[in-house]
Amino acid sequence: MRRFSRRRFFETAAAGVVAAGTARAQPSSDVVVVGAGAFGGWTALHLREMGHRVTLLDAYGPGNARASSGGETRQIRVGYGDRESYSRWVLKAFGRWKEREEEFGEKLLVPTGRLQLAPSWTEGLRATQRVFEKLGVAQETISHDELQKRYPQMRPEGVELAHYEPGAGVLRARHAMSVVANAFVGKGGRFAIARAEPPVGAGSSLDRLAIEGGESVSAGSYVFACGPWLPKLFPDLLGRKIYSPRRDVFFFGTPPGDGRFEAGSLPNFSEDAYYGFPNIDGRGVKVCPTGEATPFDPDRDERVASGYQLQRARAYLASRFPALADQPLVESRVCQLEMTVDEHFIVQRHPQWANVWIAGGGSGHGFKHGPVVGEYVARRVSGNDEEPELEAMFRIKPETFDASVFAGARQY
Ligand SMILES: Cc1cc2nc3c(=O)[nH]c(=O)nc-3n(C[C@H](O)[C@H](O)[C@H](O)COP(=O)(O)OP(=O)(O)OC[C@H]3O[C@@H](n4cnc5c(N)ncnc54)[C@H](O)[C@@H]3O)c2cc1C
Repeated sequence: MRRFSRRRFFETAAAGVVAAGTARAQPSSDVVVVGAGAFGGWTALHLREMGHRVTLLDAYGPGNARASSGGETRQIRVGYGDRESYSRWVLKAFGRWKEREEEFGEKLLVPTGRLQLAPSWTEGLRATQRVFEKLGVAQETISHDELQKRYPQMRPEGVELAHYEPGAGVLRARHAMSVVANAFVGKGGRFAIARAEPPVGAGSSLDRLAIEGGESVSAGSYVFACGPWLPKLFPDLLGRKIYSPRRDVFFFGTPPGDGRFEAGSLPNFSEDAYYGFPNIDGRGVKVCPTGEATPFDPDRDERVASGYQLQRARAYLASRFPALADQPLVESRVCQLEMTVDEHFIVQRHPQWANVWIAGGGSGHGFKHGPVVGEYVARRVSGNDEEPELEAMFRIKPETFDASVFAGARQY
């Protein structure tokens, strides 16, 4: 990606950038987007494609190792229980990811299928099944015995049925974010590595945004898409509305010469307290134990995997995939979620500054929606909302987060 050096960026941003303490500048951008993750990166690209002059800032870079979008892989699937609006968005998102793959000449989506393993039918599974029927999404129920026949590499002990979504897949997450940022710059957007300070100002609109180091940028509108950092930027508004627990992710090796765990042979798998993906790009079989509630600081905390979670992941792997019991851990990552009280996204105008928008609260399921959420936010910011029925769903809710009762994110 053609990046501006920090100095050159602030020089070339000319009238839109003013040194701290000087008079108000003429904005050189229509919109400044802060955060180049799944929410901000796609929003910036869509705004640019709509013809706006857009500046995208990120403190650490698109899909960086601290960002929630910075993982190797993220799942895309339609199954959302009774949350049909998200299922509809995923169907749209599938189309968008495929179109963008063509446009960018990059393979971003790996088809895998997905098995939801369960000891018995649950209300959530029934709801998923109903929504799939309604929307015409391919699905299948697989019995314990059939599961054993189809996937002999899996030991389905305790599993009575699996809900299978053959169209599900895995997105190459961090790679996608740098591809999106490249496309944004290629289309005339301006990107810089820069950290925005929390916005300040007494008026009803934000005049300028200070950047760490002394400069500032000014624009007609500002979109803050800072994922788990949003509470740091808006402590009063979001300090108790977005909660960021850590999540440990493990990749285990596959036996040499053994193709049974590759994408195409093994689908994504998910059950009560664990989920995982097959071996993709030779990174290993991914296993993620869920339910961790320890809060995580995305700037400062060290990303060393927890021994306890590793032990959980290993025990799960050994019981479900016996051939992997002795395989070594080949990679681990620690990421953080950005949970809202109801696990709905937040897309909302700031209550004080009419030209400031907040977009985030991905709640463990936001990545797949990137191209759709980006278009949605871009339309809202441009005053061209085509889905007004979603506004209430994406508003900041009155309830505050009670971390002591956080029992882990649902799996979407
Ligand atoms: C382990 C894990 C597994 C997940 N699995 C899935 C999945 O399978 N499917 C799915 O759809 N979703 C999944 N998610 C959720 C998904 O990854 C997130 O919802 C999504 O990536 C959030 O994107 P974002 O843009 O809001 O935040 P981020 O990706 O965190 O982006 C925020 C960006 O803002 C930047 N920033 C922050 N503060 C500032 C500042 N002051 N100035 C400038 N820049 C700043 C950061 O550097 C960062 O790049 C998962 C999340 C985790 C952690």
